[in-house]
Amino acid sequence: MSNTAKQQKLDQIRADIIKTNVCPDLAKQATNLVFGDGNPGADIVFIGEAPGKNEDIQGKPFVGAAGKFLQEMLEMIDLSRADVYITNIVKYRPPNNRDPLPDEKAAFLPYLQAQLDAIAPVLVVTLGRHSLNCFLPDLQISHVHGQPKRYQGRVYLPLFHPAAALYNGGMRQTLIDDFAKIPAILTKLKQ
Ligand code: URA
Repeated sequence: MSNTAKQQKLDQIRADIIKTNVCPDLAKQATNLVFGDGNPGADIVFIGEAPGKNEDIQGKPFVGAAGKFLQEMLEMIDLSRADVYITNIVKYRPPNNRDPLPDEKAAFLPYLQAQLDAIAPVLVVTLGRHSLNCFLPDLQISHVHGQPKRYQGRVYLPLFHPAAALYNGGMRQTLIDDFAKIPAILTKLKQ
């Protein structure tokens, strides 16, 4: 599918979220829907948890401190935000940055799956345990981080969440080391 056709599908999914009024309580309190950002033809999709304050204001995922760290790690592997696609499970900011609730994650999951179907990436990188457990509920991030997992026709790479790793020296280095594996994993998958 062309990138234009992929973008049209993504635009339709975004419109569906608004039309079907997904999570009206979150929507009411949010400034913007944070749908996703980047290249619809990307090989890699990164999936976080939910927008924070900066993301809510700008309508873009990962634009605060965690986003700056994510961008630095992308640069480390010679990629920019424009090369990849970045989104979250939950598309509206939960009040006071609380964890997204199970029913909020469940409500947005079909739209996230539709985004992945539209983009058809080679690799899905989950950021944090919420994102991992959305797709692979039985796995523990502390055990499987940095190890690609094949499941139902997709390949997932579970990574620690950049916000959790930002101020935790050990976890930060582990995340950087896991992130550095992405190019080799991608090359192998594309062979
Ligand atoms: N954390 C997330 O999980 N998502 C964002 O968009 C920003 C911070």
